[in-house]
Amino acid sequence: LLITKYPPAVLVRLASFHGYKLLNDQGLCLDTFTSMLDHYYIKYVMPYVEDSDGEEYALLKPKELDIHSPTYLPRPAVVTIMGHVDHGKTTLLDSLRSGSVAAGEAGGITQHIGAFSVPLPTGERVTFIDTPGHAAFSNMRSRGASVTDIVVLVVAADDGVLRQTVEAINHAQNARVPIIVAINKCDRPDANPDQIRQQLLSHGIQTEEYGGDIQSCEVSALRREGLDRLLDAINTQAMMMDLRAEQDGPVEGIVLESRYDRGRGLVATVLVKSGLLRIGSCLVAGAGWGRVRELSNEHGVVLSNDPNFTFIPPGMPVEVSGWRELPHAGDIVNEAPSEQAARAIHEALNRTGYESGMTEMTREAALAAETAAALAREKEEHDREKRRRNRHRAAVRDKLDDITNMMEQGPEEAGPRHFNVIIRGDVQGTVEALAELLPVLKNDQLHLKVLDQTVGEIRSSDIYQAATTKSHIVAFNIPVSKTAQQEAKLAGVRIFDSRVVYHLLEELRETMSHSLEPEE
Ligand code: GDP
Repeated sequence: LLITKYPPAVLVRLASFHGYKLLNDQGLCLDTFTSMLDHYYIKYVMPYVEDSDGEEYALLKPKELDIHSPTYLPRPAVVTIMGHVDHGKTTLLDSLRSGSVAAGEAGGITQHIGAFSVPLPTGERVTFIDTPGHAAFSNMRSRGASVTDIVVLVVAADDGVLRQTVEAINHAQNARVPIIVAINKCDRPDANPDQIRQQLLSHGIQTEEYGGDIQSCEVSALRREGLDRLLDAINTQAMMMDLRAEQDGPVEGIVLESRYDRGRGLVATVLVKSGLLRIGSCLVAGAGWGRVRELSNEHGVVLSNDPNFTFIPPGMPVEVSGWRELPHAGDIVNEAPSEQAARAIHEALNRTGYESGMTEMTREAALAAETAAALAREKEEHDREKRRRNRHRAAVRDKLDDITNMMEQGPEEAGPRHFNVIIRGDVQGTVEALAELLPVLKNDQLHLKVLDQTVGEIRSSDIYQAATTKSHIVAFNIPVSKTAQQEAKLAGVRIFDSRVVYHLLEELRETMSHSLEPEE
C-alpha cells in the first residue's frame, strides 16, 4: 500500500492483496488499488501504516511471506532489455523470440504481446518484457508494481557507452535490479568489447573481467551468436536470486499491454506475479475488469484450449481475453472473488474520485489511449518502415536521435493534440507519481502528455529538448536557477515551478484551457 500525500487528496495504491484485504477487513470500502481518497479517509488509512517517513510515502509492508511455505514456489525471472537507441535491443528481442520457436515451442504467427517466454536447456524459463516505450513504463511504475528482476544492458561494441546506456544503468541501480551486460554487434570488424568494459567501469559497472561481479557476454543479435551464453548468464543470476512467488491466494499481476483484437475483442497481456490465473478468474485492473475467457501465448496458441490446461503460474506472460472494459499498461491486476464483486470494485474505483472530476477524465483518457493503441497497432508495419528510414537520417548525433524519435511520435498519433511536458523533480517517487497523475489533465483540444521525466535540476539540455519537442517543463520541488530561467525564456519554454502538486495541476489546467495554439 503506497500512500502519496497530494493536497487535497491522497493517492492510494494498493500494491498487494494483503493491503487490500487488511483495509477491507476494517470495513473500509477501499476495494480499488489506485484511487483518490479525500481527507476524510486518511484517518482510517493511517493507523495501518507501519513505516512512514513523514514525507511523500507511507508504506504498509505486506505480511512477511514464509519462503518455506509449500506454495511459495520458484518462478521464471522477468528480464527487461535496455540500452541506447540503435544498439540492438529490438534485434536481440527478435532473435530471442524466434529462438524459442526454433527450440520447439509450438505456434503459429508470433505476435507482439508485450512479453514472451523462452525455455532454457535446464528446463527453466525466462520471461522477456517487450513493451514499446518500456523505459518510460519501468520508470513510472511504483516500487510495489515493478516487474523486472534483471536488466540486460545492451551496448554496441562498435559504439560504446552513450547517454541512454547511462540512463539505463541509473534506472537499474535506483531500482536495485541487477544488470547483465550484453556487448552487441561483436560481428563488426571494429568491435572492441574490452573497451566497452573499460567504459562501463567508469560508470560503476564492474564486470567479472575487471574483478567485479557483473556478468558480461559478447553477442551478435543479428547473427544470433552468443545468445546461449547470455541465457546462461541470466539463468545463473536468476538462480542466485532464488526467485519465488506465492501460488496460493488470489491472482495479482500487472498489465503489460492492452489492445482491441478483431477476432477476440478486448485483450490484455498480464504478467502474473502471484496466484494462479485460470479460465473464469474475475479480474479488476485500473479502469478495466472482466472474467477470463481465453488465455493465449505470444505464438498465438490458445493455451486454455489444451485439454490438460489448468492455470498460468506466476512469472508467465499471457494474453487474456474476456474484458468487459479494457485496462492499460501498468495497471495492477487483482482477482475478485466473483464477477459481481469485480463489477462492484470497478464501480467503486470510478466513484472514488477527485472533486474536480478527475475520475471521469481518467476514464476518457483511458478510452482515448485504447483507441490510439488500436490505431497504432494497425499502423505498426507502416511505422516500423518509417523508423528504419529515419534511423539512417538520424545517424548524425546521439542527441538528435532521441529528439527525432520523440518528434516522430506526435504526428503519427490520431486524435487530440498534445500538451507536452517534461518533468523534473526532487525524488524518484514523486516524479513517478507526477508522471502518472498529470496525464489526467485534458480538455477538448489538448491532452497532457509526459515526454520525459527525471530526477534532478533543470539542465540546458532539458531546455533544448523542450524547445525542440515543443514542450513545457514541470519542475517539482527543485530550485530553478536564474540561468535556467533565462535560457528557457530565450527558447520560449515555459517552466511550471511549484512545491505543491495541487498548484501545479491548477496552473497546468489553466494554461491548457488558454492554449488556443497548441503544439502539433
Ligand atoms: P534498438 O534501437 O536498440 O532497438 O536497435 P535495433 O535492434 O533496431 O538495431 C539497430 C541497427 O543495428 C539495425 O540496423 C540492426 O540491424 C543493427 N544490429 C543490431 N544488432 C546487430 C548485430 O549484432 N550486429 C550488427 N552488425 N548489426 C546489428
